Amino acid sequence: MTFAQQGSTDEPTFRSSSTSNRTYLETHPEISLRRSQSNRSKDHYHHEEQLVEPKSLPLIHRFVTNWLIMDPVLLQIYQRQLHGTKNYEIEKDPDAKFVFFFGGRLRSIKGKPVNVITGAMIVIPVIIYCIFEAKWQWHHLSPAVVVTFIYIWLLAFCHFWKAATSDAGVLPKNLHIPKSINKEQVENPPDEYFNAITLPSYGSTRDGVVVKYCSTCHIWRPPRTSHCGTCQVCVLNHDHHCVFLNNCVGERNYMYFLWFLLLACVGCIYLLIISIVQLCYYQIGNVADVTSISQSAKHFPLSLFLVVYSILALFYPLLLLAFHLFLTSQNITTREYLNNVYRRKHADFVNVFDTHSIWKNLYINWFGSSRAVSLTFPRNEYQPGDIRYEKIEPLQLFSIEY
Ligand SMILES: [Zn+2]
Ligand SMILES: [Zn+2]
Repeated sequence: MTFAQQGSTDEPTFRSSSTSNRTYLETHPEISLRRSQSNRSKDHYHHEEQLVEPKSLPLIHRFVTNWLIMDPVLLQIYQRQLHGTKNYEIEKDPDAKFVFFFGGRLRSIKGKPVNVITGAMIVIPVIIYCIFEAKWQWHHLSPAVVVTFIYIWLLAFCHFWKAATSDAGVLPKNLHIPKSINKEQVENPPDEYFNAITLPSYGSTRDGVVVKYCSTCHIWRPPRTSHCGTCQVCVLNHDHHCVFLNNCVGERNYMYFLWFLLLACVGCIYLLIISIVQLCYYQIGNVADVTSISQSAKHFPLSLFLVVYSILALFYPLLLLAFHLFLTSQNITTREYLNNVYRRKHADFVNVFDTHSIWKNLYINWFGSSRAVSLTFPRNEYQPGDIRYEKIEPLQLFSIEY
């Protein structure tokens, strides 16, 4: 039997399932929650901090390590001062993955900086173009050709930048911590112990939206929210974790991601066309001593390079764009598609977010979604004792056979 909340009633009810298991959330044996069951003081949530004596750092060091590039977990080790600090500077969970830049304005994930390589692959061709090709095209083709390419490229790069460095829709942690855990079981468990709730919907029960409890972040996830194992956070309207952006793609940056794909494809095709035109220009205009395509390639070697580069660079974004055009026409996320449709894990899956109009679905995803505010408010002032930044061990799901 699985506990679940059904229908529109406020009180949770029990729903039988074929597994005959009762699923609860259990604490990890060594967590501080259970130890401090009778005493819900602030110490309740403290983990063993590896703090060393605070050091007074030189200004340039503080500028670089606390403002320009800031790893909040590292800062916790070297600095105990909490007053006057901002939320992005506080992270007492050593497993947290974010590193912040420019005073908490931008963020990325610690580890392999693949987004830097992606950024370099976007920047390198435009540098080559500007140095070697732009002048020739400006004078022989039209200034508009050059200006249009630079404009498309700038748009594409800005969308890449926003998608890679924005908060994807990270939810604050530790909002719904179970209140009573005793001897690894709980009689009359509180709401927090139900591992899934089906929200009411217009059709049959299978049309419902399943809402789950995240045992790592200790929150009830809003609909369409998933936990990202790479970022170690729950992300609103989670689409996928993109290794090329080194960031999750979710509620707050999905539109940037979509437009980046589109603009990257448009930019590649445009570059391909103008480079081919430059290579073939000898047929309509005067190019010194050039009478064949091979001579033209020797005369404009970087045009040939840009033709090859744009064909290779077009391939992956074009595939992704086609896939996301399909997904957005159905208003389904990558995660929902892979979990429920492609793998057919849940044969009775119904996408309740589909408006049944391709154009409406496309509009919602490409134009209609608001960016909304960051739910973690990284640049707000930190309030000492704010439990959202504390380390609390993950709970474990367990089943009891009856
Ligand atoms: Zn989570
Ligand atoms: Zn992620």
